[in-house]
Amino acid sequence: MTAPIQQQPLEAKSPFELRVNLGRDVPESDVRSALATGDMGFLHSFTTGATVDGPGVRVVAWTAGCMWRCLYCHNPDTWRMSNGIPVTVARATAQLRKYSHGLKVMSGGLTISGGEPLMQHRFVVKLFTAAKKMGVHTALDTNGFYGDKLTDGDLQSIDLVLLDIKTWDPERHRRLTGMDNAPTIEFARRLAARKLPIWLRYVLVPDLTDDPDDVKKTAAFAASLGNVSRVDVLPFHQMGRYKWKELGLDYKLEHVEPPSNELIERTLGIYRAEGLTAY
Ligand code: SF4
Repeated sequence: MTAPIQQQPLEAKSPFELRVNLGRDVPESDVRSALATGDMGFLHSFTTGATVDGPGVRVVAWTAGCMWRCLYCHNPDTWRMSNGIPVTVARATAQLRKYSHGLKVMSGGLTISGGEPLMQHRFVVKLFTAAKKMGVHTALDTNGFYGDKLTDGDLQSIDLVLLDIKTWDPERHRRLTGMDNAPTIEFARRLAARKLPIWLRYVLVPDLTDDPDDVKKTAAFAASLGNVSRVDVLPFHQMGRYKWKELGLDYKLEHVEPPSNELIERTLGIYRAEGLTAY
């Protein structure tokens, strides 16, 4: 039997756990009010022990809701906000408090990822503000499209932005994500002007995001900003394939293989040639 919403465990072993319809009984008016005040958010889960989503050992809060439709998305169950667990900011803060001492000892922190966290930016800012009060480092993992929702004051609650740049060419970006990349680029410039550090994330998919010229333009842009302290080239994988099937979605990358070591090295080389630290 499925547990009532309030008792749904926030922890998941990984974001690859499929979670659907956990917020479906929340009335639309409550959803609107939650988004406006940020007193409640919709989370896929909390995971602990991550070491790739920011410095040190991290707790990651995975938000539900995303307006993009990336062909390679490995968590399409996070697209709909109603698939998330409704969580008050007080409950999320209490959850974080359990780990706060360990996070500080291990030079880690809280990362909010998704989905797209800025779909519920007020909740995100409230949770980050609570984390900062505990002395916990904060990182926002975002596609940057809604970066302009954050005021300069909001940005003070964020220590690091993990910014996904999907591809450089605008037309290719639209084919890949369904959306424009101009707001993401603009957000990156704004973060640079404020000297807020960025870790750039680039998902490498054979025949989709591996065009050397496109990577070179992304790398040159990143290098020009002056605040990109690290680039993570993330090799495409098929761990999310089963979710597309379970959700009845048309998965176009069914037969795409992960990138070869040679392709990964070539792509890393393009970033490094611009003087960036890339892994
Ligand atoms: S931005 Fe992230 S969560 Fe949204 S569709 Fe793309 S990969 Fe998925």
